[in-house]
Amino acid sequence: MNGANSILLARPPTPPPGGEPLNRNSTADRSLDRPRVIDFHAHFPTGDRRYTLDPVTAEYARERSERMRREWDFPRREPPPASPAPGDPAATADLWAAEVDRYGLERVVFVTGRDNDTLASIVRRHPGKFAGMAHHRLETPDAAGELRRAVEELGLVGYKLIAPFVEAPFEDPAYDPVWKYAASRRLPVVIHFGLLGHAGGLVYHPRLNPLTLYPVAARYPEIPFVIPHFGCGYWQEVLQLCWSCPNVHVDTSGSNQWVRWMPYPLSLEDLFRKAYETIGPQRIIFGTDSSWFPRGFAYRYLQDQLRVCYWLNLKDEDIEAIFAGNARRLAGL
Ligand SMILES: [Zn+2]
Repeated sequence: MNGANSILLARPPTPPPGGEPLNRNSTADRSLDRPRVIDFHAHFPTGDRRYTLDPVTAEYARERSERMRREWDFPRREPPPASPAPGDPAATADLWAAEVDRYGLERVVFVTGRDNDTLASIVRRHPGKFAGMAHHRLETPDAAGELRRAVEELGLVGYKLIAPFVEAPFEDPAYDPVWKYAASRRLPVVIHFGLLGHAGGLVYHPRLNPLTLYPVAARYPEIPFVIPHFGCGYWQEVLQLCWSCPNVHVDTSGSNQWVRWMPYPLSLEDLFRKAYETIGPQRIIFGTDSSWFPRGFAYRYLQDQLRVCYWLNLKDEDIEAIFAGNARRLAGL
């Protein structure tokens, strides 16, 4: 506790001349006071857009994200003078490597990065700092073969899926080769469920509810499944799935501001307490959902989550597991 309090109660660092935002200052001098940290859920920014919004919805999303930016004291995304061109992955990789040093991280795991070859080349550029996951659709021809190539030839350490992009039920026989391969390697499979995107995002799809994973999670207990953002609105369902299936984990990544859209009060502290009590510290994995510059590593999320864990009096060994150990074990880092 003592070591933690000294970081958590520390005065905010003085911004350097030039007005760089507070949350981008070096933490190296304080890193010894905190557990080792692996960010298990980041996205390597490539500038790709998944979907376009109707102009009315887009304006609503812009206003809402501006409010969020102020709430969290994040830098502005536009214009992005600190962002390299989307077509320059090497420069972006170097910016990210500098973030790993600045915040004293053990490693960042990118769950997406345009395509498997691009992300593998990013990881090769900074192999001691990065790891990456395969990310291609289950409907890709020979998706299992591509997963094998990504893991065995490219060195990627997991598989990332987005549930509302999956066309058939998870238990459809067409997907069996993928699950069989993941089970044979005990490969972590991270699947986003729940609202996709921000304001204006997708909220309805037959695969949005994490309970739809139950048939596969129960049939392949060797696969460590990871459900991001504590289930992103499907909290009760995630708790039920985790209660039934010991191979299902949660990650803590992102703002978790979805708690605001629940019909009952729910806080980050509630999420950690309930997950700790029922799922257990070995199945909670820290992440931030960081991606873009100039924000870089979302240090604010690490601060908030660590504060909650100390506030709840979690044991040091459990905090070590949540913030690095579990990620290390699952991804074989
Ligand atoms: Zn994400």
